[in-house]
Amino acid sequence: MLNHFNFKRFGKTEVLVTNDFGRYEFLSDEQFRELALGRVVEGSPLWERLHKNRFLVDGFEITSPEVIDDLRAMKSYLFSSTALHIFVVTDVCNLSCIYCQAKDKINRPQGYMTPEIGRKCIDMALQSPSKHLTFEFQGGEPLINFPVIKSMIGYSEEVRGDRAIEYTVVSNLSLLTEEILDFLLEHHVSICTSLDGPEDLHNRNRQCNIPDGSYALMKAGVEMINRRGLAVGGIETTTRHSLSRAKEIVWAYEEMGSPSVFLRPLTPLGFAKADWDKIGYTPAEYLAFYREAFQEVLRINKEKRRFPEQHATYFLSKILGGYAQNYMELRSPCGASIGQLAYYYDGSIYTCDEARMVAEAGDSAFKLGDVFSSKYQDLVSSSTCKATCMASTIETIPGCCDCVYQPYCGVCPVVNYAHNGDILPKGARDYRCEIYGGMLDYIFELLHDGDPETISILKSWVL
Ligand code: SF4
Ligand code: SF4
Repeated sequence: MLNHFNFKRFGKTEVLVTNDFGRYEFLSDEQFRELALGRVVEGSPLWERLHKNRFLVDGFEITSPEVIDDLRAMKSYLFSSTALHIFVVTDVCNLSCIYCQAKDKINRPQGYMTPEIGRKCIDMALQSPSKHLTFEFQGGEPLINFPVIKSMIGYSEEVRGDRAIEYTVVSNLSLLTEEILDFLLEHHVSICTSLDGPEDLHNRNRQCNIPDGSYALMKAGVEMINRRGLAVGGIETTTRHSLSRAKEIVWAYEEMGSPSVFLRPLTPLGFAKADWDKIGYTPAEYLAFYREAFQEVLRINKEKRRFPEQHATYFLSKILGGYAQNYMELRSPCGASIGQLAYYYDGSIYTCDEARMVAEAGDSAFKLGDVFSSKYQDLVSSSTCKATCMASTIETIPGCCDCVYQPYCGVCPVVNYAHNGDILPKGARDYRCEIYGGMLDYIFELLHDGDPETISILKSWVL
């Protein structure tokens, strides 16, 4: 029996086919015709290949425990409730990054979460039935309001019961001190920072009034953490200024001792959208940057150490590993509300971090409730939660439902709304689709080329 599959022309003479298990095959035109017409001869080498990868299935096999387990692994994130809780403890920041909302210090009210609101946030997060939770402290610059982080972690430890909680702080590290670090290490709080590349580029993207520049402060923070024997994870944001610096950016991460590099395109929201003509780029420009950077990542893996590119790793876990990681943007439905919640300093709760950024720009369309009057059940049964789930279930979205990359991809209702005033994508091939599609094109080119060393590196990131 022919199982459901999607396909696209790959190169001049082949067709790429994929299915819901994340499996893929490159077929010649003739082989593809045989598959589509149901004429693959049972027991032939082609039949064996297609059967092994579940493009062809025996009648009852599709409901066997093994097949069901494989499908569950591709949708594993659906079997737990909201796991990621993002606490925006302040929207005040001491930097003025060129792509960030927090740089608008004049037109936007700025504030700090109080200890009382912090406790209510924890109480709300603990209403999520998930046994494993991540509490992420963000800003602005969260260390500006470190006393509240401290009191929230203390309170959480008191009331968490048998929940396993992972704490993370996302900081520019400029305010890190040995005392703060003592507390973070004592409570096993992982630390993540932003690094946009070498010093001049980082300082150009991440501006501040401090004479030494933000890079020097970030580097001092990383060194302080490294001296305690720990590595710092980093997140990169690509601006127009980054496009010609791909290799240097990758090496900046390697030299910082980061376990991986996470190359991210600019999300056209808020200030990034308003200044797009100065800092933005086309999908083709980003993809050229990504390919160049990725080649350098592979070189480091070949010559120095295991050093994954994180975005590719999320795709590869589905393509090569047959399982999904809980990365909110590449889920279907996406993580809005059911995977993450964002708690603003004033107690408002949004579907996700990007939704609160849209709110900071004056539109609270994705507000779910607040820590004063709502219950977790209200948030996840709200029409806003249901609408974002429906709008990000790519199996149902025209253009995505029959796309060859649908098993690996994701769409974003917040970005769609910010662009088009509609949570559903308006027409095929928007900015984000072209970028994800182009990244997946590149990954499948590497898999098709089949260089054994490259394949073994890609597998080592996910298996
Ligand atoms: S967003 Fe684009 S690349 Fe992703 S599944 Fe939809 S059509 Fe395909
Ligand atoms: S709405 Fe967009 S930003 Fe929010 S979780 Fe979904 S994909 Fe991510």
